[in-house]
Amino acid sequence: MFDLFSLKGKTALLTGGTNGIGLGMAQGLVGADLDHLILTYRSEGPLQKTIDILKQINPNVKIDGVYADFLKGTEEELVESIYTQALEKAGKIDILINNAGINYRRAFKTYPQNEFDEVMRVNLNIPVKLTQKVVNHMDDNGIKGSIIFTGSLCSFQGGIDSSAYAITKGGIKLFTASVSNEFSKKGIRVNCIAPGYISTNMTEVFDPEFSDGLINRIPMGRWGNEKDFQGPAVFLASDASGYITGETLVVDGGWMNF
Ligand code: NDP
Repeated sequence: MFDLFSLKGKTALLTGGTNGIGLGMAQGLVGADLDHLILTYRSEGPLQKTIDILKQINPNVKIDGVYADFLKGTEEELVESIYTQALEKAGKIDILINNAGINYRRAFKTYPQNEFDEVMRVNLNIPVKLTQKVVNHMDDNGIKGSIIFTGSLCSFQGGIDSSAYAITKGGIKLFTASVSNEFSKKGIRVNCIAPGYISTNMTEVFDPEFSDGLINRIPMGRWGNEKDFQGPAVFLASDASGYITGETLVVDGGWMNF
């Protein structure tokens, strides 16, 4: 039964895995016996710290970093660099998790164009282009892979002062649904995880009063944390979700149904 959740022999490429939700996902993957993890990173310190945490969970896992700042260079150069380096290090990719993301909360009326473009680039353009590379790699090599995106409650709801972010997260949800249909017969599955309110660097900017107030709105009565993403990531990456594709799994302590 538990073999269903095993990632033995698998290689995963995870963006934004050195912090927050991505770090939680990485903890889940290595705990499920993943063979090789490729993490994108922006600076050495957090990468090394992440490797230390993950090696404590599974000393046998191979972990490599691929430097990638999504705001540097052209989108095509960046995607090519991540993809090429990942393949050089691991030889194959069975699991791709597009998790890196940013948000600038601004009123649309005066939303600076450069910041709007950055949100599009990091949350939508690069994940889509990287997915095209990786899904072709899976298809060409007969890999029955799993591709996972990180969406948001903004995949379903507008939020406030989050116009750029909502475009990207709404887009990712429908992109997941659409692309999944093109690869279902090949055994390549494409799914999305939509987190609710999760304590990470991204949500540190919230006013403490607003943050505390949200607890009353969350049926489980608490904010989520990185550990809440271990199970969902393993589930969607593994054979346990073998008949699930095009789906968005909401991980929000009940917010959406309240
Ligand atoms: P964090 O800020 O903790 O993590 C974001 C990750 O993205 C980090 O690993 C970060 O890298 C990486 N990243 C940010 N900018 C860049 C860039 N320019 N180039 C490469 N990588 C970059 O936030 P979360 O863990 O909360 O966010 C993870 C995902 O979850 C995002 O897609 C976010 O939109 C989504 N999400 C978060 C929610 C929440 O409540 N926290 C709710 C809904 C969705 P580094 O480690 O170097 O900082």
